[in-house]
Amino acid sequence: MRVRRLIGGVAGACLAALVMPGAAVAQGVTASNGPFSIFDNLFTGSITQTAPSQPAQRAPSQPPAGSSAALPWSGEDGASGNPLMTAAAIRQAAANFPNCVAAMWPDAARRGVSRESFERYTAGLTPDLRLMDLMDSQPEFTKAIWDYLDILVSDARIARGREILAQYKPQFDAMERAYGVDRYIVASIWGIESNYGTQGGDRSVVNSTATLACVGRRQAYFKDEFLAALEILHRGDVRPEHLRGSWAGAFGGTQFMPTSFKRYAVDFDHDGRRDVVDNPADLIASTANNLKKDGWQSGRTWGYEVVVPKGFNYMLADRAKSMTLAQWQHLGVARPGGKPFPHASDKAYLLAPAGAEGPGFLMLQNFRTIMKYNPAEAYALAIGHFADRLRGGQPFAQAWPRQERVLSRAERLELQQLLARRGFYRGTPDGQIGSLTREALRGFQASIGTAADGFASADMLDRLRGR
Ligand code: CA
Repeated sequence: MRVRRLIGGVAGACLAALVMPGAAVAQGVTASNGPFSIFDNLFTGSITQTAPSQPAQRAPSQPPAGSSAALPWSGEDGASGNPLMTAAAIRQAAANFPNCVAAMWPDAARRGVSRESFERYTAGLTPDLRLMDLMDSQPEFTKAIWDYLDILVSDARIARGREILAQYKPQFDAMERAYGVDRYIVASIWGIESNYGTQGGDRSVVNSTATLACVGRRQAYFKDEFLAALEILHRGDVRPEHLRGSWAGAFGGTQFMPTSFKRYAVDFDHDGRRDVVDNPADLIASTANNLKKDGWQSGRTWGYEVVVPKGFNYMLADRAKSMTLAQWQHLGVARPGGKPFPHASDKAYLLAPAGAEGPGFLMLQNFRTIMKYNPAEAYALAIGHFADRLRGGQPFAQAWPRQERVLSRAERLELQQLLARRGFYRGTPDGQIGSLTREALRGFQASIGTAADGFASADMLDRLRGR
């Protein structure tokens, strides 16, 4: 799982390379450019095809999970502009695919993969060039965070999640004793990543990672994934025909990338195999092990919905500005209904994904842990909230500003350019609303005397245009 995160900002160290942490934000849930399962899954099939607008950047129009009636490669240059993504470079790399795969044998051998396994599992691999379109997809339209949450935290998914919790109660009980990780969070990740194993993607992990290791702009990264996938098959952890998943190679109910599988998967039922695809005990414990190693604090929650007082200084709504819950309370930030904060000395930061007109959230250490799983705020909020709902919690008490229109990619670029022209934005305009853009917007908002909440609304764009 970690890798998706790794790649861009979606959930480790590699992340930084591709994704800016927190790149997926309130207005317009835009994942960054890594292969991240959640976006694959969320926006596959029906959602993408019925929605009026296309969603996350890295969640291109993939066929519904289960049907790999895959679209053919567009044959076009990739939108990234990377020289390895031109149509000519892709064709050339594809022509060399058999040689490229064969050349990875020495590395596979060093990892303990036998010659027999190597030949068996690389026989018949063919480059899936559709992955190039998916890797470089830059949809013009993205989803508002409230739409994203509506899709992910649906009544149907909650009902199914409760069935899963009941069905695998002994396994969840044993996991909590062994790892101290909240069962509802594990069940939430399982439900949101793959809708309990039903929407995790249907592409061969070995074929996808081999393609990405030999063609396109992330070859070194995916070579490691491909070799790790071969190791999994050679050791017999997962049945070969069941090692299927997202276009980027994430598999199993909680969408492990092959390298994150290597790092975190455990054989919880002691049958000799770490089977995160077909064995719920292994899946539940492996996911918990991942969270624990990423810093999960036992007995703590992820965060709280909060009411932010009128006139609040939103400059404080910043991941870098942690304060204790007691300090936040002193500033007038409170839970709906005035419920107390347990553990008032725990530190949290304030997130206001839709600005002053939407709910606020105080985010604790465990929220940061979830973001290591997938470094997108909207994702982590969905995981936390879905877990609370599985536990019997209520929907958010405050309304989202649903009347707000999500800016298109072109408009987000324009917003950044206008902020740069006025000296507020110092990043490179990329059409993704991240922390730099929000900071710039707060500066502009403060300069015109409006609430500096950093929310990129259509109204703010109009004001930047001078209307
Ligand atoms: Ca096992």
